[in-house]
Amino acid sequence: MTHSMNLSRTASELVTLLEGIDGRGYKAYKALTGAWRFTDFTLVFDHVQGDPFADPSRVKVEIDPATASFPADAYGNEARRWGTAALLARTFRHEAGNRSRRRGSGRSGAVRMESVGQIVLPQTAVGIDEEGRIEARFAVGLPARGRRISAQEAVALLTEDVPEIVGASLTAAAHPAEEVARCAAANEDAEALRSALKPKGLIAFIADGARLPRQSGIEDTPLDIDEVVPFTSPATLRVTVELPNAGPTTGMGVPEGVTLVVGGGFHGKSTVLRALQSGVYNHRPGDGRELVVCRDDTVKVRAEDGRSVAGVDISPFIDGLPMGRRTTNFTTENASGSTSQAAAIVEAWEAGAHVLLVDEDTSATNFMIRDRRMQELVPSDGEPITPFIDRVRALHRDHAVSTVLVIGGSGDYLDVADHVIRMRDYLPEDVTDRARAVASELPTGRVDEAATRLRRPLPRRPDRSSIDPSKDRRSTFVRVPDDRTLLFGRDAIDLNGVEQLTLRSQLRAVGLALALIPSAPSGHESLPDLLDWVEDRITAAGLDALSPRRLGTLASFRRFELSAALNRLRSLEVE
Ligand code: ADP
Ligand code: MG
Repeated sequence: MTHSMNLSRTASELVTLLEGIDGRGYKAYKALTGAWRFTDFTLVFDHVQGDPFADPSRVKVEIDPATASFPADAYGNEARRWGTAALLARTFRHEAGNRSRRRGSGRSGAVRMESVGQIVLPQTAVGIDEEGRIEARFAVGLPARGRRISAQEAVALLTEDVPEIVGASLTAAAHPAEEVARCAAANEDAEALRSALKPKGLIAFIADGARLPRQSGIEDTPLDIDEVVPFTSPATLRVTVELPNAGPTTGMGVPEGVTLVVGGGFHGKSTVLRALQSGVYNHRPGDGRELVVCRDDTVKVRAEDGRSVAGVDISPFIDGLPMGRRTTNFTTENASGSTSQAAAIVEAWEAGAHVLLVDEDTSATNFMIRDRRMQELVPSDGEPITPFIDRVRALHRDHAVSTVLVIGGSGDYLDVADHVIRMRDYLPEDVTDRARAVASELPTGRVDEAATRLRRPLPRRPDRSSIDPSKDRRSTFVRVPDDRTLLFGRDAIDLNGVEQLTLRSQLRAVGLALALIPSAPSGHESLPDLLDWVEDRITAAGLDALSPRRLGTLASFRRFELSAALNRLRSLEVE
């Protein structure tokens, strides 16, 4: 973080300046650019809007450690810093919603911070550094009457509204001490829990007492507490992990291998899987999923008909299309359910995933299974698909890729499972032994259709010129019109099938990262190398590596979501 303190003008100079430009054309606001020293913080205008109806002005507030006065525990390590920062960002956003008001035309008076939602992750809205210094980035709508500067309203916005919001959110005094301690500690524990998975041979963990269901399919907040059946681990899968703050924590460990989640409809199967897919992120205290984690190389894959696919070798799953077409370099503008699901798996694998999550609700049936009768009626030489059931074991055995599958309908999968968890009335039971018994009592008679050994497809080399972020006169055009769409150059990337991208700020960051890819130094040619290169830049310089504009609207993302966005870019071509 930069210190703007020493070079800055004072708040009363700001008032004088504003009074001097009252009634003038809006452009005179440009004189605000730079730093202003207030009693408790420094306010910096990074970008002043040109018009009251344009995107609001980008500002940041810096608070020195003595004034912010958070206890050292709140920023003692990186996990604690992000846990604290998320609390401040949520509070600022909330206070801005309550305290800011309309102060003229267009966006006059607006104070807005990007949402961090229920998850806790590195983002650019609020940061706290190793010394306890706070930096908060947000947007303000500078007040106008029509298109003329409204000084009185601007003075009220900048010397009353903003200091009130800052005072109510960004200093230790704004929060109960236990709340700050809880946010920092919970995030440290979640990180520790995720790190404990691999050494224990686990791919995921759900703590006893966790509350998994959400308000609705489009609302990530928890279902009301009195309606929730808290998670309780089955004794056979119960493990205890020692956490730095919570101490010994007990819950269900999901082992590596192939795990089925079975059970009747509406008994909570998909809810478990969705909690696992969200477990690549940490969650805020009170979310219910604070101690639900999965390995960070876990990818939810699903069918997504209509998506584009660029040069993916889907031959492990689908080969020999009608008219003898090969699929080692499969390209389509309009994938089917099964080809899209095959592509999603190969793409995740290419990017380095070691855990796949699959829900029958969002899978193509013909991709998942061909039963005995269908094998009889349509022999495999007339069927291009090697169903997933005949690949899922080799994925783990030969390539260390584990899978968790939600299956309610096809008992044939019992033959390929290492563990079977039955959900009943929202509670898990370990039915692995019973499943083995059923599988041997009632053989399916299926024949394994995997005719070839499962080989990992070769990484692709994207053609850089097919990744073009420019539009009209802008060299980089990245916009996020809604939660599921990324406008990139002249393309609109549909991210409905990329369920693990949850925040708009992540979509925006992914868009900017995509825009960097064509400028990677030569030597980074394969897709995995390009993903490494982007990751290294962000590790070295933080999310500001993605844009020189000091945006407060970015949040971190994984290589899997970056590659998922690239893979859905309709202009993408591979060499
Ligand atoms: P399935 O995939 O087995 O058909 P879902 O996971 O879709 O079932 O869950 C069905 C409904 O039950 C959903 O509305 C969900 O919110 C609710 N639900 C899931 N788990 C719980 C729980 N632990 N407590 C209360 N309600 C739950
Ligand atoms: Mg379901």
